[in-house]
Amino acid sequence: MTTVTIEDAFTELYGAGPEGVWAAPGRVNLIGEYTDFNDGFVMPLALPHTAVAAVSRRTDGVLRVHSADVSQGVVQLRLDALEPLSDTGWAAYPAGVVWALREAGHPVTGADIHLSSTVPTGGGLSSSAALEVVTATALNDLYELGLSASQLAVLAQRAENDFVGVPCGIMDQMASACCTEGNALYLDTRDLSQRQVPFDLAAQGLQLLVVDTRVKHALGDGAYAERRAGCEAGARALGVRALRDVPYAELPSALERLADEGENVRRYVRHVVSDDHRVEQVIALLDAGDVRAVGPVLVEGHVSLRDDLRVSCPELDLVVSSATAAGALGARMTGGGFGGSAIVLVEEATAAVVSKAVTEAFAAAGHTAPRIFPAVPSQGARRVA
Ligand code: ADP
Ligand code: MG
Repeated sequence: MTTVTIEDAFTELYGAGPEGVWAAPGRVNLIGEYTDFNDGFVMPLALPHTAVAAVSRRTDGVLRVHSADVSQGVVQLRLDALEPLSDTGWAAYPAGVVWALREAGHPVTGADIHLSSTVPTGGGLSSSAALEVVTATALNDLYELGLSASQLAVLAQRAENDFVGVPCGIMDQMASACCTEGNALYLDTRDLSQRQVPFDLAAQGLQLLVVDTRVKHALGDGAYAERRAGCEAGARALGVRALRDVPYAELPSALERLADEGENVRRYVRHVVSDDHRVEQVIALLDAGDVRAVGPVLVEGHVSLRDDLRVSCPELDLVVSSATAAGALGARMTGGGFGGSAIVLVEEATAAVVSKAVTEAFAAAGHTAPRIFPAVPSQGARRVA
């Protein structure tokens, strides 16, 4: 069998080889969910799964993009005609990055891009951010723009927010751009200050499993906007710039002060302030080398997302209940919820038993079989050829 390399596929499409090849990963978030639009804290790690892009510059103001994973063929766009929200399908992600770079004054004059991704699409593992960040990283190198990984992440987020039209926070793009092998990324989403926190699961005899439920419930988009609006209303009522400014110790009194705001706002505030606190707890545990003790904190985070923020779903709840019943140290949904993926912290020796228990619970409930694989903390965006 002959393998077609990404360079070969590029040459086949565009008639000459690429100037280079770049990769950017998907991610899971260990803890700190729905905190990134509240200026709060998150703790993602990059997956081994990546979007890989072969790229060459062009000088004629044309962008051509092709994905091995969709059957659409080459999409050709003129840079001076790029319009936000113009519904160009999947091509909006790379095109949005070119648009955001040019809006920021960077002299990008065109590109040919061919990409292929192993990040599951729509599974809450940030296949979209991987696509944006690989494009941004490639153009930064080729056009010698000198932008940092964080700056590229911010431009990629702008592409998704303003060009594609998805109101996501900054976590996914920062994770894809800035994570490093063997570490989780402790990120302050207000000022993007960060610390790489060693997360050496193998040395501790542990595994972090990703369980992709392979379901995506439709109410996700509207619910995200509603939670976001509720959090903003809570911050306004409390007189703070964002919920990150409410210290955990003051949560009870803050909730009292929100008596007139309605039950939802109080629940959302309780989730965000307590999840920011859980990030601090997990950091302290990892710094102390007590990785096993992270398990119960993950479960607390899940309960908060399920009961206070109400962004879980039966499939995600079943991962958590069946995994913990089978001996997992902890589990929680990760990402936006309403389907997508959960993470499960297990002893390496029980990983197979726990995986089997989750798979059997899904079968018994009549759900589609989940996809389960270990999350090995991996390298963020980089040039690979
Ligand atoms: P997630 O980021 O959680 O995977 P999103 O809905 O944010 O889910 O992004 C998924 C979208 O990203 C897809 O619908 C598609 O438009 C685009 N996408 C992701 N991976 C690819 C790919 N390999 N080729 C083309 N488009 C992709
Ligand atoms: Mg996404």
